Amino acid sequence: MTRQRWWGWGVDGHDGPLPASGDALLTAELGLPGGRRAPGPLEALALPVSALAPGARAALEGVVGRAWVRDDHPSRVSHAVGRSYPDLMRLRAGALDVAPDVVVEPGTAAEALAVLRTCVQLDLAVVPFGGGTSVVGGVEALRGEHGGVVALDTGRLTGLSDVDVRSGVASFRGGTFGPDAESELAAHGLTLGHHPQSFEFSTVGGWVATRSAGQASTGYGRIEDVVQGLRLASPVGEVVTGAGPATAAGPDLRELLVGSEGTLGVITEVTLRVRPAPGAKRFEAFGLPGFAAGIEALRALVQAGVAAPVTRLSDEEETRVNLAMADSGRRVGGLRAYMRTRGLDRPCLLVLGWEGADAAALRAHREAGVRVLRAHGAVALGTGVGEAWARNRYHGPYVRDELLTRGVLADTLETAASWTGLLATYRAVGAALRAGLAARGTPALVGCHVSHLYPTGASLYFTFLARQQAGAELEQWQTAKAAAGDAIAAAGATITHHHAIGRDHAPWLQGEIGDLGLALLAAAKRTLDPTGIMNPGKLMTWTSDDAVYGDRGARPGEVG
Ligand SMILES: Cc1cc2nc3c(=O)[nH]c(=O)nc-3n(C[C@H](O)[C@H](O)[C@H](O)COP(=O)(O)OP(=O)(O)OC[C@H]3O[C@@H](n4cnc5c(N)ncnc54)[C@H](O)[C@@H]3O)c2cc1C
Repeated sequence: MTRQRWWGWGVDGHDGPLPASGDALLTAELGLPGGRRAPGPLEALALPVSALAPGARAALEGVVGRAWVRDDHPSRVSHAVGRSYPDLMRLRAGALDVAPDVVVEPGTAAEALAVLRTCVQLDLAVVPFGGGTSVVGGVEALRGEHGGVVALDTGRLTGLSDVDVRSGVASFRGGTFGPDAESELAAHGLTLGHHPQSFEFSTVGGWVATRSAGQASTGYGRIEDVVQGLRLASPVGEVVTGAGPATAAGPDLRELLVGSEGTLGVITEVTLRVRPAPGAKRFEAFGLPGFAAGIEALRALVQAGVAAPVTRLSDEEETRVNLAMADSGRRVGGLRAYMRTRGLDRPCLLVLGWEGADAAALRAHREAGVRVLRAHGAVALGTGVGEAWARNRYHGPYVRDELLTRGVLADTLETAASWTGLLATYRAVGAALRAGLAARGTPALVGCHVSHLYPTGASLYFTFLARQQAGAELEQWQTAKAAAGDAIAAAGATITHHHAIGRDHAPWLQGEIGDLGLALLAAAKRTLDPTGIMNPGKLMTWTSDDAVYGDRGARPGEVG
């Protein structure tokens, strides 16, 4: 069951105007036209007619029960697309050219398996749907070459199914939402520590299906680092991977299923490594004298093994815009003035979240980290900014909704590169985004942060803002996205660090994993999903005639 409002992020009650200083900055630098473009009413949103073959609905009801097969307008709208910029713009435009014919919610892993078998018989495509927070078109209700499309909502496959505190492992059903997983673990004194920005509205199964990375991944690892085993319902049967601590029993099948984006089956249960909940936490901020210097500091931190679990370094532009968007009051003015007195004229803000079993453990870790930072010219800014970041860590997507209402193109994209290639990738992608938006005649603000560190490299996460091109909003976005994707590929970086491939990144997959890589994925697809009903058009493109993998021709956002 989706928890989000149909037209935007999250739930009502978190919206508000932009802070005056942020509003002034955007108006001046992007030339905002003024006025508001609020979404229309849900009833007015046009969808393709639901067209299930006679008897199909009854067959599905026979598997899960009548109450769990829905084709009402709100259910179809809320399962039609995810939460990418083009998704939100299409919802706001009042018409979608895709929607599931029906939404089905199995209550058990056995029912999920039976739904898939039934869909094979009925020739219905199946789109696994967790929280629906995909930003790459991963849940778009495409039917491919099939007779209809079912959104398989994992909303009843929830909860902790097993916990072994002594070994530090816990099993969750695939549809368990982030806050529910953490509160179940908290009752045992444990934590998973996986907090993507979408935490409140995304699911364990969705995280595993997309290889997600939480905000504390530098300390806790990405989701694939903590998956010990899983169960996948496929159209031809269930796959259960081993759940032991380690194995040498051939290639690791978990790695084939993690990141499979619903194209091989539905993840019904996941066994995850968990840890004792930390006894002490501290958020704080530092100012760095430039992005290049900051990146060197991060490299030193992570290679010395003393990085904080949450480590986020904004470049000069993101720092400037974030400070304007954070507050128009005296506190930010004071912070800027203080940084200037310390020689930081164009500062880069670094937010750190430390954790430890207790205060002493935290202190020892932090002191080692702070020594490295000071050696790289970092200036301590205290806990206020860090705590404000932690308090607002899930608020950004609500601001995006407000920006869209104000006529701003607001989107993000991400990649990762080695430490050696990181700055060059950063410069190339930033330049491509600016050029892509300038080509459409719109000035842009392009900022970036590094927020996931590895001994060998790090992620780059870009945010870009521009005045929307009225009447050509999607084309404007496509131009910027294609320019950035091509620049990432040319730099030899990955097309996605944690958002996954979905539909929007499919054009670049072949370049990244090669024809043989695509053929290996295709072989898995043929084995588990021989009629190609699972999530058509995502990750790899499949037709039963010629088995074409990797959508090389289409550009991001094109509907086909
Ligand atoms: C505002 C915002 C912030 C975000 N922040 C982050 C972030 O910090 N880190 C990050 O990694 N991502 C982030 N994302 C992207 C997104 O939240 C992640 O990809 C997340 O893992 C998706 O989980 P979900 O439950 O919403 O999956 P969905 O969006 O429902 O599905 C995503 C993909 O997984 C498949 N899928 C879902 N559930 C299953 C299942 N049980 N079995 C098989 N396939 C399944 C779907 O078919 C689809 O292909 C963000 C997105 C938004 C909108």
